[in-house]
Amino acid sequence: MSKYTDELEYGFTSALAPPVRETRIGVCSAYCGTCAELNRDLKTGCAQLQNRKFAQSGGCQLGLAMGIASSLTRSAVVIHSPLGCCSGFGGSAGLRKTMRASKGKKDEEFIWAHTNMDQLDVVNGGTEKLKEAILYIDKYSRPEVIIVANGCVPGIIGDDIDSVAKELQGSVSARIVPIHCEGFKSRYVASGYDAAYHGILRHLVEPAERIERALPDEGKDAFERYRISRTVNIFNVGSNSNGDEVELSRLVSALGLYAKVLPLHATVEDLSHIGEAGLNVSICATHDDYLLGHLKERFGTPYIIDTLPIGVVNTNRWLRVIAAEFHLEKEAERLIKLETTALEEAIEPYKKVLAGKTIYVGGGETRILTTAQYFSYLGMKLLGVKAHNVDRFVEEFLEETDGPELSIEVAAGQPAEELAILNRLKPDLYCGHMGANGWVTRLGIPVIPLFGQSLNYMGYSGAFELARKAAKAIKNTNFAKNISSNVSLPLRQSWFESDIRDNIKPDDLL
Ligand code: SF4
Repeated sequence: MSKYTDELEYGFTSALAPPVRETRIGVCSAYCGTCAELNRDLKTGCAQLQNRKFAQSGGCQLGLAMGIASSLTRSAVVIHSPLGCCSGFGGSAGLRKTMRASKGKKDEEFIWAHTNMDQLDVVNGGTEKLKEAILYIDKYSRPEVIIVANGCVPGIIGDDIDSVAKELQGSVSARIVPIHCEGFKSRYVASGYDAAYHGILRHLVEPAERIERALPDEGKDAFERYRISRTVNIFNVGSNSNGDEVELSRLVSALGLYAKVLPLHATVEDLSHIGEAGLNVSICATHDDYLLGHLKERFGTPYIIDTLPIGVVNTNRWLRVIAAEFHLEKEAERLIKLETTALEEAIEPYKKVLAGKTIYVGGGETRILTTAQYFSYLGMKLLGVKAHNVDRFVEEFLEETDGPELSIEVAAGQPAEELAILNRLKPDLYCGHMGANGWVTRLGIPVIPLFGQSLNYMGYSGAFELARKAAKAIKNTNFAKNISSNVSLPLRQSWFESDIRDNIKPDDLL
């Protein structure tokens, strides 16, 4: 088990809804300062108390919960809310198709309905509409799983979606999975991952039924036990690609282990075998500590939450901690030597292009800090990072970053703040989340995406691709220049001249 989670306790699945991350792990969602200051303030608890004077919208946990739950194979979704909560689902159908195609899975539509709650439902309750929607979607698409996602309005008026699910379970062929992801409950949108996994753990993770052999076969039974003890479940996340999964599986298999990738895009049958593994391995702590902690409690499977395998140093580290669990340290060192020797030779031309160039990285906390470390490794000068949120899982990375004086902003969304910082720092390259990249391009700064569902970022092949992408963007910056000279930003000069630290203070000082 990881040092990041050894003080954490789980056992929340007897409750209908999970605790939010503010109470479970303590998080910081607003900060502007240096890595050293943030590290100090996280330890004293001051960082968790910061808020902002002026805030733009910052995301909702319903969207993140649906990103996980709606990926399941042969699933359909009912959003119980007013229509507005579904405004972000327009592009989800395309994403599902792309992801499934890239994994070689059978094409499936993204089937979803919403209950379109209105003012009368706020007075009378919306459970009748919810029942109607569940019965309709079951009849219309005959899914294996019906996800019911609860929005703020039914959450506030107290619609009992769990009782509705229980009542209808005998009338539909699908398993109904209520998910409590009401946006108002948490400012830390990653709470949505816990909400999704809470529903999956309660309603879908049931061990597969074992059928006794008609004729005993000790050899086969022994091999089966061996296979399970050497199986490594790699927990995938919405931001990784099939290329990432293939690369990480390749590396785990090269150690002589069996690699299995779960739980996104899994079937109910796949989930019934989730407990059959010798080790569960995270690739991003922000996504899955809740799931892995509960799987350890339920099946006794040890787990590792350490680093995200991006760049050479962190991929080496990820492999070493896995290998250590199986006493395969020598095999890991041989593999690392082989891989890094080939990679170093391949990235040499890109290192020459990137040497001394400045970069700023924005996005999810573990991802940005590991990616930033890799850009430093490539010889770039790191000017700063922006994290959506920060929690205990990145304390060690904050200590290891390029220098204690490195600028760090903590903000989910908030492009106005990030643009003011970037306008002052003027990096040669920005590597960021898709929500920010369009804004940053308008400043004339070349941009590369921090992740992409059809691109490889993880492992050694991902390190090569990332170096190649960065060098390509630095070599030709005309696109960002043209955008900047033709499209303006909706911000005043006085905002650009202001100090963002004045916008972020503890509640009682705002
Ligand atoms: S914050 Fe609430 S009302 Fe807004 S989209 Fe999320 S669930 Fe819907």
